Amino acid sequence: MRMILVGPPGAGKGTQAARLLDRLGIPHISTGDMLRAAVRAGTEMGRQADEFMKAGKLVPDDVVIGMVLDRIAEADAAEGFMLDGFPRTRPQAEALDGALRRAKVTLDAVVLIEVDDDLIVGRITGRRMDPETGAIYHISYNPPPADVAARVIQRKDDTEEACRERLAKYHSETTPIIPFYEELGCLKRVDGVGTPDEVTQRMLEVLELGAE
Ligand code: AMP
Repeated sequence: MRMILVGPPGAGKGTQAARLLDRLGIPHISTGDMLRAAVRAGTEMGRQADEFMKAGKLVPDDVVIGMVLDRIAEADAAEGFMLDGFPRTRPQAEALDGALRRAKVTLDAVVLIEVDDDLIVGRITGRRMDPETGAIYHISYNPPPADVAARVIQRKDDTEEACRERLAKYHSETTPIIPFYEELGCLKRVDGVGTPDEVTQRMLEVLELGAE
């Protein structure tokens, strides 16, 4: 299965990716994770990417495209992969499409997890982390236990302003890939509102993988 996971920040892509990967046995290729690893390793690409990431900007297309095309050419991705966080722009989608055509393979599905902006803002601004264990809570949906409540913190980029900014960027830069995949006939829309189990179930249905 060759698939792409798309959705606004806070739509639950990470949660759903983890659940599906268990079942699919394909590599999870997250450009955010790869770029953070390159920054930590101090590679030339990491140094270039770091400036953009710190500024909350997208890393230039040529850097990210080269990185992903090399990664999907590796042996473990020969039978399939799940791309997460890529493509994030239309030129990235076109470059991926060209590479897959040259390799004579097809994309099976682009799953779009849909959640309204206001709901995402509520999810993200209510998020709190326990700095001692890294556990994530939500002030309304999953409140921390009493002994943890006093020490939970809010991540700097989980404020309403930062969240609206990330959503605006998603709408202006990433949503243009949606009509591209709609025309290719592989776009599958999934309602991202509900419990994680409900959303996983919907994903399995659109991917025609049957129930858990
Ligand atoms: P993420 O963990 O997916 O939110 O990515 C973290 C950061 O990495 C983003 O804010 C971008 O700066 C960069 N990044 C990740 N994926 C891409 C991509 N496909 N194109 C450009 N920049 C990316």
